[in-house]
Amino acid sequence: MGFDVKITTRISILDLFAPYTCRGCGCLGELLCERCKKYIISPEKREFVYAVGRREGVLMQLTEDYKYKSIRRTAEVLAELIDEVLPDNLGSEVIIVPLPTIGRHIRERGFDHTLYLAKKLAKRRGWKVSGNLRRINKTVQVGQDAKTRAAQAERAYEFVGEIEAGKTYLLLDDVWTTGSTMRVAKKLLEKNGASQVVGAVICVGLLNN
Ligand SMILES: [Zn+2]
Repeated sequence: MGFDVKITTRISILDLFAPYTCRGCGCLGELLCERCKKYIISPEKREFVYAVGRREGVLMQLTEDYKYKSIRRTAEVLAELIDEVLPDNLGSEVIIVPLPTIGRHIRERGFDHTLYLAKKLAKRRGWKVSGNLRRINKTVQVGQDAKTRAAQAERAYEFVGEIEAGKTYLLLDDVWTTGSTMRVAKKLLEKNGASQVVGAVICVGLLNN
């Protein structure tokens, strides 16, 4: 564990000083240049959830830079991309609820990547972030079949706090795979009084992709 933490810390420090090259074209300056930004957005929608595009190419690389390499600055770019694909008519009374990350992952990565992304997105639109969901199940959802994932998702979260009347709730996660966690999270918010629930993810992927 101590070893993991050291690696994460070192990456974060490098992250502060390293010059950035565009993940799309390689030009120096930004993680994603203005020109490449236009090409990367290819909106997808799954049920009630908006996505920037499919989990492939540059979008996949940015997602993985963020999730696994803990390159925090990626959050700014990803928040901007999500902002672009969300409808304008969501209004100002929106509360973002990040899907909770497993505690072990937060320790390994040095920060809670979904919460951090939620804060960046909230700042762009003047929205709020609320921790209405808490994880109660430590099982990692990677590479299991859809049925197992759905059963695990049912037991993964609990609702905490209160729902504010008249607000729109926006669930935020990184990747839509089978949608099981998003559906469970939506049900939990609705059961506790939320009347309008939408969702956003960076990308949609296939199981085992
Ligand atoms: Zn570029």
